[in-house]
Amino acid sequence: MNVQYLTHKLDGCETKMAPKKILLDEERIPKQWYNIQPDLPKPLPLPINPATQKPIEPAQLIALFPKECVMQEVSQERFIPIPDEVRNVYRLWRPTPLYRAEKLEKALGTPARIYYKYEGVSPPGSHKPNTAVAQAYYAKEEGVQRLSTETGAGQWGSALAFSCTMFNMKSTVYMVKVSYNQKPYRRVMMESWGAEVYASPSEKTNSGRSILKEDPDSPGSLGIAISEAVEDAVTHEDVKYSIGSVVNHVLLHQTVIGQEAQMQLEQVDDYPDIIIGCIGGGSSFSGLYWPFYYDKVSGKASKDVKFLAVESTACPSVTKGAYIYDHGDTARMTPMFKMHTLGHMFIPPPIHAGGLRYHGIAPTISLLNEEGVVKTVAYNQMDVFNAANLFIKTEGLIPAPEPAHAIKAAIDEALRCKETGEEKTILFLLCGHGHFDMQAFDDYLAGKLQPYEYPEEKVKEAMRKLKALYPWLKTE
Ligand SMILES: *Cc1c(COP(=O)(O)O)cnc(C)c1O
Repeated sequence: MNVQYLTHKLDGCETKMAPKKILLDEERIPKQWYNIQPDLPKPLPLPINPATQKPIEPAQLIALFPKECVMQEVSQERFIPIPDEVRNVYRLWRPTPLYRAEKLEKALGTPARIYYKYEGVSPPGSHKPNTAVAQAYYAKEEGVQRLSTETGAGQWGSALAFSCTMFNMKSTVYMVKVSYNQKPYRRVMMESWGAEVYASPSEKTNSGRSILKEDPDSPGSLGIAISEAVEDAVTHEDVKYSIGSVVNHVLLHQTVIGQEAQMQLEQVDDYPDIIIGCIGGGSSFSGLYWPFYYDKVSGKASKDVKFLAVESTACPSVTKGAYIYDHGDTARMTPMFKMHTLGHMFIPPPIHAGGLRYHGIAPTISLLNEEGVVKTVAYNQMDVFNAANLFIKTEGLIPAPEPAHAIKAAIDEALRCKETGEEKTILFLLCGHGHFDMQAFDDYLAGKLQPYEYPEEKVKEAMRKLKALYPWLKTE
């Protein structure tokens, strides 16, 4: 049942779901983003240049990113106003609905209340335009003509293509060649929004050409695609690079999700005991939990809310990775970030949750995980698709394979409540729909999915290689 709908319905709703007051749409879209940096228990370790082992200067990043994004990246301001132009685009699909999963609760026989915030209603079908729109707006304001980026499965590329067209800008997307061939509809979506999409490695850049020279049949990788998109930006005066997850400014743009969820839950007089989200780079989950974290540190939370991040056993960055400085990309073009990592040379196993196959994680999640504030759990894709199947049959929405990991964790928590009789409030993020993931569901229904556990030994081997490259590195 849609909680938002209930805010417009004064009578006939079930007991405690009655809304407190009616909010206009205008009031329901947040006016500022929340930045967690000033509220962290420790300062965030800065990204470093491995050659000097010194922090990267913001000035060096301005060649690559829009200036305002670089300022936000290192900002200690707690609240950052959302420009009207950005809110005007958000209005197309925001506020997004918050649902109470009543049919799922019934099927599980749990006393817990389960809510989910649904970001699949955006034009590209996920949470990603929350930051893409902001990045395109700032770039346009600074006179940039075109944005370049990489995409794996196509979620981020579509969000950027959509956002650039909203501000009359061009976009270029380097799409990992295997995905380009396997997911033609994502490519067509990007092209419909006016993007130029190249299968990566491509003939458009030096890094692409040199890889093709050695291996004309290279299937590509996210690391190679990042190198191409970055090269495109730094070799053209009027082009900047755009990034879809991991770094601070991206995560803070996502906090519209959590702020809306707070208003929506307040309408029905509820507050979460636990907040759950899947993590690839960590942007969608951060968008949901950061505003509740602020409630907690500022003493405003009515409960001791817990935060649970869910990853794939095939790519267990936080549950099995080391907390160490590593590059964000395979080609070692990016600075080094202190984060949980499986090693930048990580080759993703062929699982269906394309968005969860990143070797690292947002440094803020790593820090809060070390401090015990954010807990992490990993599930394999068999268990995840079984959970998605129950969700689809009860709630009706078809989730992307990534947030299906959060569904699995929410169901497990609800089943624990059934055992203990606790009436907990569970809030999870359904960060995208699965309409372009029919192959995954086809494989599931045909019984072709396999569970996969990334071996501990491979992490150790990657750490040996990383330390051989950089002998000064320390693990914690
Ligand atoms: C990109 C993506 C993810 C993973 O990225 P985060 O930054 O962790 O959110 C997860 N789910 C969907 C639907 C995505 O598009």
